[in-house]
Parts: sequence; C-alpha cells; structure tokens
Amino acid sequence: MLKGKTALVTGSTSGIGLGIALGLARQGANVILNGFGDSDGAQAQVREAGQAHGGRVGYHSADMSQPAEIEAMMAFAAADFGGVDILVNNAGIQHVAAVEEFPAAKWDAIIAINLSSAFHTTRLAIPGMRAKNWGRVINIASAHGLVASAAKSAYVAAKHGIVGFTKSVALETATSGITVNAICPGWVLTPLVQKQIDERAAREGLSVDAAEKDLLGEKQPSLQFTTPEQLGELAVFLCSPAAANVKGVAWAVDGGWTAQ
Ligand code: NAD
Repeated sequence: MLKGKTALVTGSTSGIGLGIALGLARQGANVILNGFGDSDGAQAQVREAGQAHGGRVGYHSADMSQPAEIEAMMAFAAADFGGVDILVNNAGIQHVAAVEEFPAAKWDAIIAINLSSAFHTTRLAIPGMRAKNWGRVINIASAHGLVASAAKSAYVAAKHGIVGFTKSVALETATSGITVNAICPGWVLTPLVQKQIDERAAREGLSVDAAEKDLLGEKQPSLQFTTPEQLGELAVFLCSPAAANVKGVAWAVDGGWTAQ
C-alpha cells in the first residue's frame, strides 16, 4: 500500500517509534529511522519487515533537541530518498517532578524534543508534500495531550502543545492532499514507562508486577497496555486512502483513560 513512499519516524530506535516504523515498512514504505541507542538492531528489524516489498531503510542520528541537526536530517532525506512523504514526529522524553523542583534544563529539553522538534521537521517537510499534493504528518502526542497528571508539567505542556500544533497545521493544509493528525496513547510498555514503573516500585516498596498493576489501575480502565504494534497499525490506517479526510484529530488509544 505504501510502496514508493518514504517515511521518517523520529525516535524510532525503540518503543512506539520502532513499532510504527515496522508497521509502515510492512506496507512497503521506505523508512528513515532516527534516535539513540541500538540503531543497527532497529535497522535490521525494519529491513526484515520491509523485505518482501523491497523497501529501503536509512538512519540519521540527529539529536531532536538541536534544530541544526534536524535540518541536516531533512536534507539527508531529500538527497537520499527524494523527501519525506510520511512524517511521524515521535521522539520524546519524560521527567517526573513537582513544578517547584523541576530542573529548568529538563523543562527546556522536554519542550525542545517533544514539541519544537515537530515544528522543525514539519516546516521542512510540508513544501515537498505540497509539491506532490500528498503527505501524512502523524504526531505522537499522548493522553497527556488531552488531560493532565501531577508532576508532569513540562510533558503535559508539550503534549497539549503538539495537539494544538496538529490542528493548526491541519487547517493550513486542509484543501491539499496532506493530512495532519495526532495519536494520543495511554500507557504503552516501553523503556519510557518502564522507568516510571521501576521508580514507583522503589518508592512504594512494591514488586515491579504490583507497581505495573497500580500504574494501570490509576489511569487506564482497560488495565491493558496499548502496544507499539497497535499504534503502528493506526499509523498505517492514517496513511491509507480511507483516512484522506481525517484532518486535525487527536485520536486516543488509551484503554478509556480520557473517557473518564
Ligand atoms: P522510548 O524511550 O522507548 O523511545 C523514545 C525514542 O526517542 C528512542 O528511540 C530514543 O532514542 C528517542 N529519543 C529520545 N531523545 C531523543 C533526541 N533528543 N533525539 C532523537 N531521538 C531521541 O519511548 P516511547 O514510550 O516509545 O515514546 C515515544 C513517544 O510516545 C514519545 O513522544 C512519548 O512521549 C510518547 N508516548 C509514550 C507513551 C507510553 O506510555 N510509552 C504514552 C503516550 C505517549
């Protein structure tokens, strides 16, 4: 379905980004990966997923907190892949602390990586999408883009910000073949959440299993984690012709979290 399209997924060496990269590769898209850690392992997985369709896999190491590095990544995508047709703004970090104890440098990093990076990739990708009159921008927001939790002020601000950014750019591109949407996952068991489970277990003297159950019970009525594979399939749907008129939505995949 996506043969001939090129997808750039930021923060795709693990977790949700990797799940989305795999989903898009299975549909035949070329995929450019980005992120820290085991980039070779992620590339091997995505290459295997796309093998049947001959999809190409690339990687760029841009630090998404650095606009100049984002510009270099977008230039690489243009030169090596002919531009970005599907842009998935996924890279993100978390820091949990009360606002009066929140390190200013952490605030700046969260806003830069979870919010401003999407501005930079999007502003650089839209001209090419307009030229082809086709494009998909998928912003990975969060249930925290729709509702708040205590001790996550920077994350909640960034995620509410990206939902607003999504709507604004969706309106700017509404009459074109470009769609811009946000996905708002609840808890997904990735390294980002495992860290919070481990901290909860240590803080409350619980086993990791019990801390996991507590975490889900507090917010997510289904008591099930959303999976990266499910989010990959939703991204595939948003890239399909059936979703051509889905514009500016913030689509919750949160086991009922924000229905409460
Ligand atoms: P993760 O820690 O597994 O993956 C984060 C990815 O971002 C990794 O590939 C990492 O290398 C990359 N990254 C981090 N900082 C970067 C930087 N400065 N430059 C480039 N890449 C960087 O986390 P995840 O849970 O898969 O999170 C992915 C996205 O989903 C984030 O935006 C997160 O806020 C969002 N999200 C996660 C959950 C959840 O429950 N896990 C829920 C809602 C939203």
